[in-house]
Amino acid sequence: MRNALGLIAASVIAAVVIAGGWFFYSSRAEQAAPQTMAARAPEPLPASAKLAARDDVETTAALSGRQVAAAAATPTPAPAMPVQQKSTCTNPNALGVARVVEIDTTGGPGFGFEHFKQFDFLTDKEVVLTFDDGPWPNNTPAVLKALADECTKGLFFAVGKHATYHPEILRQVLAQGHTVGTHTWSHVNLNSKKMTEQQAKDEVEKGFSAVKFALGTNPAPFFRFPQLQHNPAIVSYFGTRNVAMFSTDLDSFDFRKESTPDKIVSNVMTKLDKLGKGIILMHDFQKHTAEALPTLLARLKAGGYKVVQMKAKTTFQTLPEYDEALLKDLKVPTSSARPISSVVQTVSQ
Ligand SMILES: [Zn+2]
Repeated sequence: MRNALGLIAASVIAAVVIAGGWFFYSSRAEQAAPQTMAARAPEPLPASAKLAARDDVETTAALSGRQVAAAAATPTPAPAMPVQQKSTCTNPNALGVARVVEIDTTGGPGFGFEHFKQFDFLTDKEVVLTFDDGPWPNNTPAVLKALADECTKGLFFAVGKHATYHPEILRQVLAQGHTVGTHTWSHVNLNSKKMTEQQAKDEVEKGFSAVKFALGTNPAPFFRFPQLQHNPAIVSYFGTRNVAMFSTDLDSFDFRKESTPDKIVSNVMTKLDKLGKGIILMHDFQKHTAEALPTLLARLKAGGYKVVQMKAKTTFQTLPEYDEALLKDLKVPTSSARPISSVVQTVSQ
């Protein structure tokens, strides 16, 4: 990626240093749980944690749609990728990616002003596109197509179980250059009173192991709490695991029963025009989101909004005991446990 970006005169390194401070939690429900999972009532739990000021966000590139298309002409090799990187970007007027930021997840920084107010790295008119609860047949591929048509990139928070059901779809997400983080193993509310700290850790770690298993490579150390229910013990735990946590700046409410593609577009655009920028919460699990996306991306482009892609400086290191427990769960024979990329390599095409 850096090699390709070297072709671009606009390549910039600009560390964003933001004064340290407190980040805040507020209680709210992110969403109803997906149909396949049991919903739990959101429980408010105020908490706060202090982080030292760091250079957590680094701008690595600035690309217009045209530049993305140009860069795609000379793809760089992607080692450890289970599926060969392909770019189908041929639209010079696409929304594209205006900026790529690299996140140093040391100490577990939080992003998204609904809960984390420390790292205000987006400038006016900048947005981050995030998608939860996938991978899921039809809907996730439709989201990928809409993003590809606009040569733009998103951040996906995959549910571990769904990743084991549809690993090939999640591999496509990664292969198309999007960032893949996680969203627990089974989408439970980690802040439920019924949940012990150990159970919450198991949900988190197993989710990461499942997503790694599906991808054939380590995911980004990026996490979003289901229903945005932040368990303070897990927030602290992420500090030790160096996992960045994601809340949101604006919710598309695409999970709501009454949601329609038109409502999703108007929800996002209305909130965005008020806030001026932000991390947008959507769900590639939801049919209406996939249907809304082409129009939403066109509206973003017309409104002068620019997409920022968030990438991680390092990958998440899973714990061997959770990798093993997962394989046992899935009844995968040991010989199948090797990632696809270590068994099958494309050497000629
Ligand atoms: Zn979710």
